[in-house]
Formats: sequence, C-alpha cells, structure tokens
Amino acid sequence: MTDIELANLIFPNITKTIDDLEKRYPPRNLPEGAEVTRFAPSPTGFLHTGSLFTSMICHKVAKQSKGVFYVRLEDTDTKREIQGSGKQLIEQLKIFNVIPDEGYFGDHQVGDYGPYVQSERAEIYNIVIKHLISIGRAYPCFCKAEDLDFIRSKQEQAKLIPGYYGQFAKCRFLTNEERAERIKAGEPYVIRFKSSGNHVRKIRVKDLVRGEFEIAQNDQDIVICKSDGLPTYHFAHACDDHFMRTTTVIRGEEWIASLPIHIELFETLGWKAPNYAHLPVICKLDEEGHKRKLSKRLDSEAAVSYFIEDGYLPKALIMYLMTIANSNFEEWILNNKFENMDDFVLTFAKISSEGALFDMGKVNFFSRELLAKFNKDEITALAKAYAEKYNPKLLDLINKDENYFKEILNIEREKENPRKDYEKFGNLADAIEFFYHDSYMDKINERCPFNEKFTADDIKLVLSNMKDKLSLDQDEQSWFANMKDVAVSLGFAANNKEYKAAPESFKGTVGDVAEILRITLTGRKNTPNLYYVMKVLGKEEVDFRISYIISSL
Ligand code: GLU
Repeated sequence: MTDIELANLIFPNITKTIDDLEKRYPPRNLPEGAEVTRFAPSPTGFLHTGSLFTSMICHKVAKQSKGVFYVRLEDTDTKREIQGSGKQLIEQLKIFNVIPDEGYFGDHQVGDYGPYVQSERAEIYNIVIKHLISIGRAYPCFCKAEDLDFIRSKQEQAKLIPGYYGQFAKCRFLTNEERAERIKAGEPYVIRFKSSGNHVRKIRVKDLVRGEFEIAQNDQDIVICKSDGLPTYHFAHACDDHFMRTTTVIRGEEWIASLPIHIELFETLGWKAPNYAHLPVICKLDEEGHKRKLSKRLDSEAAVSYFIEDGYLPKALIMYLMTIANSNFEEWILNNKFENMDDFVLTFAKISSEGALFDMGKVNFFSRELLAKFNKDEITALAKAYAEKYNPKLLDLINKDENYFKEILNIEREKENPRKDYEKFGNLADAIEFFYHDSYMDKINERCPFNEKFTADDIKLVLSNMKDKLSLDQDEQSWFANMKDVAVSLGFAANNKEYKAAPESFKGTVGDVAEILRITLTGRKNTPNLYYVMKVLGKEEVDFRISYIISSL
C-alpha cells in the first residue's frame, strides 16, 4: 500500500490540496516592511498580565509598521477550555486599547484569513496532514498510554532523552498494510509527524529578542493530530501562521524549547518560517528573594482583571508594561509628558531577554501621573463609570452630591503642577470619605492621632483660637500667615529653625498647630492641602468639627 493510498484511507473526504489553500489565502498585500502579528490565546481563563504584555507588543509592532494585528483563538485543548473565556479575553484587551484589526472578536470574526478559531479549521489541518501522510512524513500511531509509559521507563533506565523518537517510535515501523488493517478494525490512533532530525546535531536559529543561537535539532515524532481529531499546538501554529501570513510570531519564551519542532515542520512543508520573538516572562521575587514567574495562583497582579477592578487607569498598566518592553520608553514618555505613546517606536533589540520584575510601585506612579492630568469633570466621569461597575461605596459618595465630589477631587488639580494624590479609583472612597459628615462622624472617635506631647488643654486652646481667629475668606498665603500669628501668640515657634534653637521656649511649631487642625478636621495626618480641604468642607462644617473635638477631649 502506498503512502497516498494510506492518506486516502484516513481522509477519504479531503479532496482539496495545499495548493488550493495557497490560493485561498494569498500573500497579503501590504507595504514593504509591514509586519503581521497575532495574539493567540487559549480560552482557558482570565487574561494574564503576561499575555497583555505579549499582545500589547504584537499590537504595537503591527501598528508602527502599518501591518496587521489579529487574534486567533487556540481552542484545541477542549479539556482545559473555560466557556466564555475567549470572549472575555477580547473584551479585556479592548479595555487596554489593544484592538485587533482582524480575527476573533468574541461573537464574530473579521478578515479574509479565517476562520480565526482553531476548532473551526479542521479542514485546513486535515488537508495538510493528508499531504504529510502522502509524502511519508506523517503516520498513524496506535500506542496507548501504557505503551508510552513503557517506552518512558526504558528510556529512564537507560538515561536517554524521553519521548517518541528513533527506535522508540514503534508505530513508525508498521507497514501501511498493518496500519490500514488496524484503522479498519476501529483501533483509536493519533497522527504523528515523522521527524528526519537528530538531536545530536545543532541548528542555528534567529530570535528577534535574543539574536542568533544554537539549539539541538528536533528528532521527536510529535503528535500533530490528537485522537479527538484536533491538532496540537505545534502543528496548528505552523499551519495557521503560514496561511494567515504571519510575518512575526511574538510569544512567551516557554516556546523556545519547541522551536526546532516548528522549524522542521515549516521546512518539511516547504514554507518560509516566520520571524520569531520570544519574550521574557514577567517575574516577582519570592519570600527568599528568588525570582519566580508571576503566578495566576499566588499573585493578584497576574490577572489584568485585578487592575480593572481596582480602578487603575488601563493606560497606566500599558505604560508600565512598555517600560518593561523597552527600557528607553520611560524617559521618552516623561519627555512627552505622559501624552500619546503612538509615536514611540518599539524595537525588538531593546527588549531584554531577562525576566523583568513586576513593580507595582511603578504602575502606581504612572497611574498617579495620568490621573493628575484630567480636569475635575473628566476624572469624575471616569470615577463614576468605574464606581457603577465595581465600587458601590464610591458610587454612593459620588451620588450624594456630584458637585461636591468634583470639588474634593479638584483640590490643587487644574493647575500647572497638579497634586498627585490619587493612584486608582479602588481606594478613592477611603481616601476622601472624611470630607463627608457622616463618614467623618463614624470614624473620628476611633482615630484622632494627635501627637502625645500635647495635652488635651493644649489642643483645646489651639482649636478654640483657630476657630475664632482663622477666617477662610482670605487667600492661601494670608490664611497661612494668619495661622502663624495665632500659633505664635499661643507660644508656638514660627518655624523649625527658631524652635530648634530653643525648644524649651516653645510648645512646638506652627507645623504642630497645622497638624492639630488637620487631625481635628480629617482624622488623618496626611491629606491634600489643608487650606483647600477646609474650603471644600465649608465654614459651617469646619466650625462643627472643631467644636465637636473640643467638646469630646
Ligand atoms: N495558545 C498559545 C498559548 O496560549 C499561543 C502561543 C503562541 O503565541 O504561539 O500559549
């Protein structure tokens, strides 16, 4: 029996050929240098921060070269699939403005190179597998789990590389007649690629991030089609990236080890392999200070949903991830005042191959900078949209009086160097709740962290004078000068220098007086500018709070 006859026996209904596929998916008509990239998630759960990193780079590389960025859903692992997660991944990408030009969009698909969902591409895979069988480069394998276990144990004993290769590839040595007989008898089988490599030989490969390096040739007869008829990643990747005309495969470094398989598949099929860029993983330090991969199980920041639900600006996370991607980005974006990052040109050569450590402090930094750029109406609209979805406590505060909320957020905002008090919406309600009478009353009795060096009488004296002598109907400078006068009249030093020269002559400094007032009005040591806090609270509430603390001391 010839290989062609065997191929016909296995795929009697496949009549199309690779040539037909080449015609159906012609090379793309794009300008010189345009890169076609793809993000190829498996629908097995939430969008990992590492996957956002990869997809952001894929998107950027395509955009800056006037190419195409598409999404392909790799749903061939039916056991691990989580219903609905494919659609959710796309929705999350959209939140981060990583929007594909074509491909899988959750409930529909766009583009001429589809279908973009692997489970819908069976015919394409079967055409290619039929071709490989007919040229003697693929064969059915009937080995059961116990046969594979037996092979593995023999290899372990002999300290050999594990796997299905060379003399261990039992089903390689069956005749086509034996194969046909077993297929006709209904025995289950997978289809394996027949490798012609030898792991003792090295091949040189080129990676856009790591440069050129040597790696052992593939000699494993990998499974290309599982017993459920679905392809494996290795094989589907080669078919899809070829027929979808991907120029640049950007993926995680965990795939480097299988690169020789992919290269052999492309060579066997006579296809030009795409360029590869293997990205470093994002890491974290464990308790002992060792680097480990950001883990879905252990780290909340491994899921992009964490940033969405905690009210970070998506752009802040993207900017941060760009700093991991290209070390020169940070300086660039600072010079560009955190504006549009479209003009930044990302280069593979500047991507470090070392796993970057995830730095939450830096995400917070970008988020603070970006939040400070909005005017009070913009930030209120954003906060409200967030609160409506994720934060009832914040929504409640906003809905009490939206204008009041705007005034709170407007403290030292719409100016040349705005204050950067807030980094996310997730903790905004806690940060501002003291502005609200009821919340203030709820918390003030438990927390009034006055400096213990002052007696209740000292504090009362300060507060009653402040209440009587400090008018809010003056500008900030006069108000402060006025407060200083009151402080001095009560025996406090006008500044630190004076105090340090003769501490025994003073009760404290004007700073202590301001702190007493701040704690009285807010229950906190750190707040936005006290003068403006008081302006927002209004005279009546300020007077009330001062009287309340005086009476409760
Ligand atoms: N589905 C693969 C994964 O999720 C894609 C890898 C690739 O980008 O080729 O890891």
